Parts: sequence; structure tokens; C-alpha cells
Amino acid sequence: KEFAQISLKDIDDVAKSSFPLCMRHLFEKLREDHHLKHGGRMQLGLFLKGVGLKLDDALAFWKAEFSRKVGAERFDKEYSYSIRHNYGKEGKRTDYTPYSCQKIISSTPGVGDHHGCPYRNFSEENLRAALNKMGVTGRAVGDVMDKVRNRHYQLACTLTFEAVHGSSCDAGINHPNQYFSDSQKIMQF
Ligand code: SF4
Repeated sequence: KEFAQISLKDIDDVAKSSFPLCMRHLFEKLREDHHLKHGGRMQLGLFLKGVGLKLDDALAFWKAEFSRKVGAERFDKEYSYSIRHNYGKEGKRTDYTPYSCQKIISSTPGVGDHHGCPYRNFSEENLRAALNKMGVTGRAVGDVMDKVRNRHYQLACTLTFEAVHGSSCDAGINHPNQYFSDSQKIMQF
């Protein structure tokens, strides 16, 4: 895979510059609440694996947050297994792949869940606020909202990408990890 690599020390900067909205949202909620429910842990955890976060760094990352909520001991007992599992180190040792947009868009988050695709799940007001926070303003916001109204969530995400990076994305967004690697390619020049 040609995904770029990230390390723990610059994960916050990279999240701001190169994560698609679905992952930014999970990342911010985790930093805020020091907790994510199962669906969010899977969606963000596998994405982070896909962007090259090593298992040891992933464990340190999740533990730092969860410890503040449930304590380090409970993290080790209840949560570290599933992270190792995602990396193929437990159970059937399957090396799980990060979720595609299609899979994320078709998920059905419940109350208190933060996974799924924000273009599909956010209220118009929350989506506008999230877009502004990403630096999308003016006409670009209206263009994104038009795509959302027509249920073209991946096109809405593609327009967001283009507005944020000031660069076209001809292939369109079909995977959060593609969003990330396309973004990193632009950032590195
Ligand atoms: Fe994430 Fe894909 Fe939705 Fe963009 S379109 S926010 S990458 S699920």
C-alpha cells in the first residue's frame, strides 16, 4: 500500500490538515470525551491503521484517552484486545482493512455514536459549522449542501476536499484513506 505514514507526535496536526470529516469528527470526539463507542473505535481505529499508525502507537494513543475516562487498568482489560485484534494480533488474526466510504455511508449510528458519514448524518446546521471549521466558506458551502440534498455524499466530500486544498480531485473521494493520501500528496509540495 502506498498510504503515507503518521506518527503520534504529529497526529493532531495531520488530523486537522488531512483527515476527511468523518475521521476528524471521531478524532475530535475522542479527544473531547476520552471515549468512543464500538462503531467509532472500529471506523477510526482501522483508518489510523491504514494511514500507517503502528500497533504500539495505536495502543498508546487509545490508552492515553481512555485512561482518562475508565482508567488504565480497565483499558488494558477491556479495550486493548480489540485494538490488537484490528491489527491481526488476536483471534483469527485477520488483518482487517479500513472501511470504504460506501461501508461508512451505509452504517446506521445510534444515539451517542459518532461514526458514519457526517454528510449523511449531520443536521444542516451542524454540517455547515463543521465545514466552516475546516475552512470551507462562502459559495463552496452552498455547493456542498446541494450535493448533500441530492444524497451525493461522496461528491459533497470531494467538493470539500477541493475547497480545503485549493486543488481538484478528479477521481472523486471513495475511501477515507484515499482522501488522506491525496491530501498528503498535496501538502508535501
Ligand atoms: Fe468519510 Fe467518505 Fe463520508 Fe468523506 S464521503 S466523510 S471520506 S465516509
